[in-house]
Amino acid sequence: MSIQLHNLGFPRIGARRELKFALEQYWRGEINGDALETVAAQLRAEHWRWQDQAGLDWLPVGDFSLYDHVLDTSVMLGAIPDRFGQDSDALTTYFRMARGRGADNQAFAALEMTKWFDTNYHFLVPELEAGQTFKLNPGRLLAQLAECKALNLTAQPKPVLLGPLTWLWLAKARSNVDKLALLDALLTEYAALLQILSAQGVEWVQIDEPVLVLDLPTDWKTALEMSYHRLQSRELKLMLTTYFDDLGDNTQLACRLPVQGLHIDLARAPKQLDRVLDNLPAYKTLSLGLIDGRGVWRADLNDKRALIDQARSRFSGALWLAPSCSLLHVPIDVAPETAIEPELKNWLAFARQKLLELNHLQAIATGAETAAPLLAESQAAVAARLQSPRARKADVRRRLAALDSLPRQRQTPFKFRQSLQQQQLALPQFPTTTIGSFPQTTAIRQLRRDYKQGRIDPTDYQAAIEQAIADCIAEQEALGLDVLVHGEFERNDMVEYFAEHLDGFLLTQNGWVQSYGSRCVKPPILYGDVSRPEPITVAWTRYAQSLTEKPVKGMLTGPVTVLNWSFVRDDQPRRETALQLALALSDEVKDLEQAGINIIQIDEAALREGLPLKHRDRAEYLDWAIAAFRLTASMVADSTQIHSHMCYSEFNDIIQAIADMDADVISIEASRSGMALLQAFVDFNYPNAIGPGIYDIHSPNQPSATEMTGLLQQARTVLDDSQIWVNPDCGLKTRGWEEVRGALAAMVEAAKTARR
Ligand code: GLN
Ligand code: ZN
Repeated sequence: MSIQLHNLGFPRIGARRELKFALEQYWRGEINGDALETVAAQLRAEHWRWQDQAGLDWLPVGDFSLYDHVLDTSVMLGAIPDRFGQDSDALTTYFRMARGRGADNQAFAALEMTKWFDTNYHFLVPELEAGQTFKLNPGRLLAQLAECKALNLTAQPKPVLLGPLTWLWLAKARSNVDKLALLDALLTEYAALLQILSAQGVEWVQIDEPVLVLDLPTDWKTALEMSYHRLQSRELKLMLTTYFDDLGDNTQLACRLPVQGLHIDLARAPKQLDRVLDNLPAYKTLSLGLIDGRGVWRADLNDKRALIDQARSRFSGALWLAPSCSLLHVPIDVAPETAIEPELKNWLAFARQKLLELNHLQAIATGAETAAPLLAESQAAVAARLQSPRARKADVRRRLAALDSLPRQRQTPFKFRQSLQQQQLALPQFPTTTIGSFPQTTAIRQLRRDYKQGRIDPTDYQAAIEQAIADCIAEQEALGLDVLVHGEFERNDMVEYFAEHLDGFLLTQNGWVQSYGSRCVKPPILYGDVSRPEPITVAWTRYAQSLTEKPVKGMLTGPVTVLNWSFVRDDQPRRETALQLALALSDEVKDLEQAGINIIQIDEAALREGLPLKHRDRAEYLDWAIAAFRLTASMVADSTQIHSHMCYSEFNDIIQAIADMDADVISIEASRSGMALLQAFVDFNYPNAIGPGIYDIHSPNQPSATEMTGLLQQARTVLDDSQIWVNPDCGLKTRGWEEVRGALAAMVEAAKTARR
């Protein structure tokens, strides 16, 4: 029986980040919209060719996006809030929604941004207004379909849609709009779209409904059932895709929906296969998501073959093979990574290698002649990694085993520490600070690059970074900030920097993954036991402190964030890896304290996104995640003030855990949601200090003192004055000095107004 191959989505940004550079040129007005679209079309064509060459039968079309696919869906459905106007230039409206600015540079309040399920990819949250209507605008999708057809590849195009229920679930409804009441109107547009696609000769449409892996309320389950009955079509086949977890309680529902195909994630949740086979009617096509779309390790194709065999033995319908989810979440190609040692490189598979693995799997499953050597090679690569002495260190293991003898909480409760710290630090009311990084200018980036590539020697590099620190301290003093930072100029990225200085990690040169819009990160690859060979941040921080009477806050990335923003080994529980990281970072905390740094921030920007999608798995995760943070933070004196920073806006479901972290001060992202999220802290009666961000650093718009005073006032209506810190939403590294200077001056002004 033939087995077909398909892919759910390919990274958009380009192997050399071509899309990023084109977008940023377009935003700066250096190229026009046509030039941007040309780069985008070239990338799509290249990516389709690669996928075709890998032997796929079905190519995703519509997975590409200039900024975000959820935003594309909103625009396609005509869900464009009134405030963005209807500029005659579609790109202008699009980027107004995405980042608060179109080509005309007029300022708008952008859509809110939040993380896509449990990934580090951010999407733009659709907004639903009272009396929301929809108006289908499939132009972009159809144009891409035509582009793909025009390439005359062997593989067939398969348009990709974000499903109506997932789109609606992710949307934010303004003023008591009942989301499900809008479903009927929404389905009218989806039905029309499917008709149009069918008229274009499309055979299969991929429709993504990752909500199916969540714990869904009954009315949403009913809505799913009703919706897919309504979207049934005789001409067109729907491949309903689910990913990131097990279908769980929704298995029967997913299996009986009247669609022709179902895709399940067997990388994250291989055990669900049996349950799906129990329920899936044989007239359907089952797509096995075998190759991990979230990790970078080569697959053991023998394990994967076993799953195919299991499916075949019980299911007589057609089988497709695929990555577990879109490959958006992994880098594009490991082949050009010349700096990685061959031994380690052979353990890895990025997007292009994953497609090849699919191809090999097809050969293996169909008993091709090449099957035996392909199997042997994949098994050998995986075995080499699992048995490598490079991944295990006796001293790290010993330390971890002796964990029980270490402090797991601060010595005294917060109230007591608070007064000690206040005595020592003597900060004004509503103390002002920043989240750590200051603008990363072209000169700074160039400096780091030159140093890395050996074009300047360590002494000159140190002098140049110290100069940047000195300038930054002077700027902060001039602005009148209360707690200063050194500015993080030595860091390319908050996780990569620590990974570079800890043992157990592997770094890539171009392993970029899109985080939001044009922003990409290069997640480190954590392959072995973690330890800290020597202090990492101490010298820079101590230098900064030597320049000022004001306290300088030390800046660390927390263990859970390093874990969640890395590609992590899969040969031991994540909990164990997190505790190894915590021990290594606790050494840094102690060294900072010893160097006279009295305020230390341990960023846990990614703690929330590691939260399992299903409620039943959450307590366990939070338990070890919080333990890891506390292990990092608890070895200091009561008078040392521990800060943490979190860039998210949803705290309701994790507020207990946030309180259990027991950081003296936490800063959170709050400005885009207009402080609404503070309600979670109020309802919980959150005891420690909080700095709700009053400056939206994700937008190029510079807020005024009046706006920030307004936000601060709102915070004061719900929090106690003694709890409040004043800071931006996040680090300032992506912004320019001009705007930062203006915005921070206004922020200090707002704090002064509040003090009066
Ligand atoms: N300290 C980091 C910075 O300021 C925090 C960044 C983040 O939370 N993403 O850049
Ligand atoms: Zn942040």
